[in-house]
Amino acid sequence: MYLIFRCAGCGRHLYAEESAATRTCPCGKRIKIDTVKVISRAEDEREAGDLVRELQMGGREMTGFSPAG
Ligand SMILES: [Zn+2]
Repeated sequence: MYLIFRCAGCGRHLYAEESAATRTCPCGKRIKIDTVKVISRAEDEREAGDLVRELQMGGREMTGFSPAG
């Protein structure tokens, strides 16, 4: 499972494998996965990439996601 979230530094959308500990944003900020506010989830990396791309383009609203903890 992949998590889609935003960088707290630059606001860009990122994804990371749920089991990952950290994700380093292209802006240089290091993000702890267990502290991110999850925007959406994806089954695999390809789906996660598609979601992020849509979010980056300010595309369609995300629907049907359940707020995570
Ligand atoms: Zn960033």
